Amino acid sequence: MITRPSHAALALAAGAALLAPSTAPLAQVRRKLPEPVVERACETDGDGLRQWARFDERCGSCRGGKTTECEHCKGYENLSVCAECDLTRKAPCRACRGSGRALDPLEALICPYCWGSTWYGCKLCKTRGKYPVKGAGDRDQKCGACKTRGVFECTPCKGLGFLPAAKFGSGGPGDAKLKKLRAARETLAETLESLKAYQPVHESRSKSEKAFAKAVDPAARVLPGIKGAKSLLETSLKGLGKGAGYVGYADWVDAEFLEFTDRTVFLLGHQLLLIDLCIARAEFNEQVGQRRGR
Ligand SMILES: [Zn+2]
Ligand SMILES: [Zn+2]
Ligand SMILES: [Zn+2]
Ligand SMILES: [Zn+2]
Repeated sequence: MITRPSHAALALAAGAALLAPSTAPLAQVRRKLPEPVVERACETDGDGLRQWARFDERCGSCRGGKTTECEHCKGYENLSVCAECDLTRKAPCRACRGSGRALDPLEALICPYCWGSTWYGCKLCKTRGKYPVKGAGDRDQKCGACKTRGVFECTPCKGLGFLPAAKFGSGGPGDAKLKKLRAARETLAETLESLKAYQPVHESRSKSEKAFAKAVDPAARVLPGIKGAKSLLETSLKGLGKGAGYVGYADWVDAEFLEFTDRTVFLLGHQLLLIDLCIARAEFNEQVGQRRGR
C-alpha cells in the first residue's frame, strides 16, 4: 500500500504521522452484482401478431404499500444523517419510487447507480457525513467530500431512482423498427465487451477516466443514463480526492472505476435482454407479415 499525503491531509494531521479513516475501506471489496432479469409478456392479436400485453403490476417489493423501512438506515448502524428518510426510518419504496406499481421494463428500469435510492454514497465517509480518524485522538472528522451530507445526488437518473429504457428516436424499444433494434443491440453488445475488459490504470485517474469514457461512450446515444453516470463518477472521484493523503487512496480510486464498470455492465446487460425481447417480437411479426404477403 502506498501513502501519499496531500497538503490538506498533512494539515489535518497536525503533526500526527498518519491520518486515516479507522474503518476498513469498503470500496476495496468488489461486490458481485446480481444478474439482470427482464420479463415482459406478449399477447397474440386477431391478426396473429404479437402485441405487448398490458402492464399493470403491483410492486413486488412494497406489495403496493409505497413505503418501506429505510434501506439505508437498515444497512448502516447509528447514522446521524440520512438523505433517504431524514432519519424517520420510513422511505419511499426503492423498487417503485413510492408509486406502489412495478416499473414497465419497456419504459424504465431501476437505476443501477443508486438502486432506486436516488443517492450515491460518499466513499470517503461511507454515507455517514463524518468519519473517525486514528492518530488524532480518535475524534470525528467532518467529511469534506460530501460536505457532511453523506451522499451525492444520483445524476444518471437525475434523482428519480429509475432510468429510461433505451431510446429510439422519441420512443422506447417496444415499437422500434427491427433494423434500429439490431443496430442498437450491436452497439450495446460491443460496449459491454469493452467494459468487461476494462481495467483502471493504477495511480492515474485521468488515464483511467479516459479509458472508461472510451469504453462507455458508444452506448450513450442509446442509453441516456450513461452521460450522467460519467458525471457521477467524476463527482465521486473528486470527493474521494479529499482523501488523497490516506493509505489506500489509489486503491479506492481503482475500486470506484470498477464499481461504475460493474453497474454499467448491469445496465447494458439489462437493456440487451430487453432489446432481445423486442427483436424476437418484431421478427415474429415480420414473418407473419411476409406469410400474409405471399
Ligand atoms: Zn414498491
Ligand atoms: Zn434512512
Ligand atoms: Zn440513480
Ligand atoms: Zn462523505
